[in-house]
Amino acid sequence: MANILYLIAAICFIFALKGLSSAQSAGSGNLCGIFGMALSCVAAYLTVDSFDAVFIFSALIIGGIIGIFIAKTVSMTDLPQMIAGFHSLVGLAAVLIAFSVYFAPELFEITHPGGICASSLIEMGLGSAIGAVTFTGSVIAFLKLHGSYKSRAIPLVVNASLAVGAIAFLTYFVVTESEIAFILLTLLSFVFGVTLIIPIGGADMPVIVSMLNSYSGWAASGIGFTLHNDLLIITGALVGSSGAILSYIMCKGMNRSLKEVIFASGQGGISQETKSAELRPFKKGAPEDAAFILKNANSVIIIPGYGMATSQAQHALKEMGDILKKEGIQVRYAVHPVAGRMPGHMNVLLAEANVPYEDVFELDEINRDFVSCDVAYVVGANDVTNPAAKKDPSSIIYGMPILEVEKAKVVLFLKRSMGSGYAGVDNELFYAANTMMLFGDAKKTTESIIKSL
Ligand code: NDP
Repeated sequence: MANILYLIAAICFIFALKGLSSAQSAGSGNLCGIFGMALSCVAAYLTVDSFDAVFIFSALIIGGIIGIFIAKTVSMTDLPQMIAGFHSLVGLAAVLIAFSVYFAPELFEITHPGGICASSLIEMGLGSAIGAVTFTGSVIAFLKLHGSYKSRAIPLVVNASLAVGAIAFLTYFVVTESEIAFILLTLLSFVFGVTLIIPIGGADMPVIVSMLNSYSGWAASGIGFTLHNDLLIITGALVGSSGAILSYIMCKGMNRSLKEVIFASGQGGISQETKSAELRPFKKGAPEDAAFILKNANSVIIIPGYGMATSQAQHALKEMGDILKKEGIQVRYAVHPVAGRMPGHMNVLLAEANVPYEDVFELDEINRDFVSCDVAYVVGANDVTNPAAKKDPSSIIYGMPILEVEKAKVVLFLKRSMGSGYAGVDNELFYAANTMMLFGDAKKTTESIIKSL
């Protein structure tokens, strides 16, 4: 019975992933995942002869309440940190389970007369090591995304030595079953997680969050082998491979390789310092000017970025878009794959404001249309429009595909200052002849434009 439930739960998780791959089906995908998780809990209870119901149900209720509280209170802009925080818990769980199994192997039927089976030692060692890297790596990612920790360069030789040390301890542990080697392997992996993520900065953070997601999946899968739990193996593999695929897709979107992100990011991290804004002339406008320009346009492309999320301007944007549409103006939205602070960030916000899906276009679909567009309305986006990604080989964002807003007849930039975006790179578009800067909170500015319209 438990195995059948596990199988159904695994199928639910596959459908959940499928559902989550598009905004329209994300709700039902999520429900499918919740159902699968509930089934797997029931199946887990069926497989044990007796358990401390008070302890288990108290944990479930407390965890559930904390989960609901976080889901209800977390702001859209804090979601990436929250995801990194959750990954860290998966990593920590893997470490704790590996240690429990090591100290009580007979409970898990992984012993033979000579000690613990070699295959279980490998699974335990790998599960604990990957879990430890995931835990500390995710904590650092959390702090960096929260803005409380800045990137620092770590010489490659440090990480290489830690990796070699971890492999040596793992081998020694598998051969000797040594407790000291197991503890040292885990401690070293905790340190490795920190030194691996510290140098990564700038535009590479999204890939890292998705990679940590993948690590947490592999850690869970490794532990699944130790616990002889098929569902944990399947679920871990689903998370591990989907995270890896997402990392690959994002790397492709930024024109970087995973190798560059992991090993060459030391430079990306330290050059994240904001270059001082140059004292060059630029055009500054008022909402009334913008309203006039928009009203006289035939086609408008709205480019949302992180600033739209912080100012929660999506509802005002939708209202403005509707007014313009009523005037017969074509209004579309262009979404860059790494706009905002998490994959799909902009799509979620636009969907929340009921922007029709058919008006939202991905980078590849819309980039060629900027040439024929009258107004590019850039709402709190910066890096994803920065031409330095095409023109300046010394820039840390060089090679990242951008939304070519500079080709529009007029570019309206909504932001609060001449400051840079996440990657800390100055944007020469602010000084272009066809650009008008609209300073202020994006939501307030858009609302003022709506009034003028
Ligand atoms: P950016 O971070 O490049 O720029 C956002 C801009 O929004 C800033 O320049 C800021 O300028 C402006 N802004 C902030 N608050 C407001 C506000 N209330 N009203 C108006 N403007 C505001 O964002 P992009 O979306 O263009 O690019 C995303 C960046 O984040 C990329 O570098 C990407 O690699 C990185 N990243 C992406 C992740 C993802 O998964 N999508 C995850 C982590 C990082 P000012 O201060 O002057 O207002």
